[in-house]
Amino acid sequence: MARADVIVLGAGIVGTSIALHLVKRGLAVALVDRAGPGEGTSYGNTGIIEGNTIFPQVFPSSFAALARIALKRAPEANYHLTFLPKVAPWLLAFRAASRPQRLLETMELMRPLFARAIAEHDALAGEAGAARYLRRTGWLKLYRGDKSFAAQARELELAASLGIANVPLDGEAARTLEPSLKPVFKHAVHWTGAVSVSNPLAVTRAYAARFTALGGIMLSGDARSLHRAEPHWRVDTASGPADAGDVVIALGPWAPDVLDPLGIKLPLAVKRGYHRHYRAKGNAALSRPILDADNGYCLAPMEQGIRLTTGAEFAARDAPPTPVQFDRLLPAAQELFALGEPVEPQPWLGARPCFADSRPVIGRAPRQRGLWLAYGHGHWGLTLGPATGRLIAEMMTATTPFCDPKPYGAERFTH
Ligand SMILES: Cc1cc2nc3c(=O)[nH]c(=O)nc-3n(C[C@H](O)[C@H](O)[C@H](O)COP(=O)(O)OP(=O)(O)OC[C@H]3O[C@@H](n4cnc5c(N)ncnc54)[C@H](O)[C@@H]3O)c2cc1C
Repeated sequence: MARADVIVLGAGIVGTSIALHLVKRGLAVALVDRAGPGEGTSYGNTGIIEGNTIFPQVFPSSFAALARIALKRAPEANYHLTFLPKVAPWLLAFRAASRPQRLLETMELMRPLFARAIAEHDALAGEAGAARYLRRTGWLKLYRGDKSFAAQARELELAASLGIANVPLDGEAARTLEPSLKPVFKHAVHWTGAVSVSNPLAVTRAYAARFTALGGIMLSGDARSLHRAEPHWRVDTASGPADAGDVVIALGPWAPDVLDPLGIKLPLAVKRGYHRHYRAKGNAALSRPILDADNGYCLAPMEQGIRLTTGAEFAARDAPPTPVQFDRLLPAAQELFALGEPVEPQPWLGARPCFADSRPVIGRAPRQRGLWLAYGHGHWGLTLGPATGRLIAEMMTATTPFCDPKPYGAERFTH
């Protein structure tokens, strides 16, 4: 039987970063996953470490935008009709959290995590030999018309007041940065401080390798076997039962599979998202991730090819894939960049674990001794994995945390 101080369930970017931070503080740690590290949601993201983020994604405010989504004409979003009644309470909460005052509140509450995002990745990547995957070329957001660009004014003003670097550009200036982009957009903003990764899977794997090099144990097992074996928690693994006094649930979109049976029912929803890699035609190339803001997709240069990632799909986590957004997006993407043949036969599907207030849950679980939660990072799990790892490790080892963890507590849903 394996005996550890802490078992971390889930080896995505969040759980792996937590496990690494705990082992660095001298604890005996077992990291348990049913697959390899980084092979869940953390495999398929756009690879942007968004330290520049100010506002979260919002519920559409205009009738026209809502109507486009309802009629399934919007490239940026899709839904399964049968799922809407189930997700309706969450959508209402999301709409309430999208009001201007609430957005400002979210911005303030999330800033301490975003402000540490890049430095915490740098620290882990440095010791894990993963610095070569980090690109310091920023993130380029493109606006095809004046209206969508003008809508950024408030965010740019706030960025200036917070000292978050960005450079507004006209189309021509943006094309000197990315000469392969075609002149189909009028404006751009270059968020110069954003960092991106060329292979998210390789980054999580490198952090996991560092974890084992420091004495951490990787175990294969099903987190749903978690149960009390007094005075400990126990998980059944391929190497036998593993016991620990503390357990961290870092299962991303799968966290409810373990928490619901324990009576911890927090209002998590998923925003599904797809990606597919394409070969670039001829000499076309990108040096940084690109957002086509008017069409709600990203193009990111990855080791596997140009990764096209989609916006949100509201559907049950485990429902079969319906990658219809590609048909809506591809004409716009091909107009912008010379995308060639797809690399894989089918798009990849993932599920962003999201709370309606766009804040993760990080901290103690309610009413369960020794149980800790770190999930619900939504659109920002890659960005915030290492900062989350540091924060929860500081909380668990009774060290002064680098920021106030209260805004991320589960209590906001239970009181
Ligand atoms: C299309 C798309 C684009 C994105 N782009 C970005 C971006 O550019 N920047 C950014 O910061 N974020 C981005 N995200 C979000 C980010 O990818 C997620 O927030 C993040 O990966 C969540 O990490 P996690 O470790 O919480 O979950 P996961 O990576 O899903 O890890 C959970 C782990 O739990 C394991 N698991 C599940 N059930 C069990 C079980 N029963 N037993 C054992 N193990 C189990 C899984 O195998 C998995 O390894 C994007 C997401 C998508 C879908």
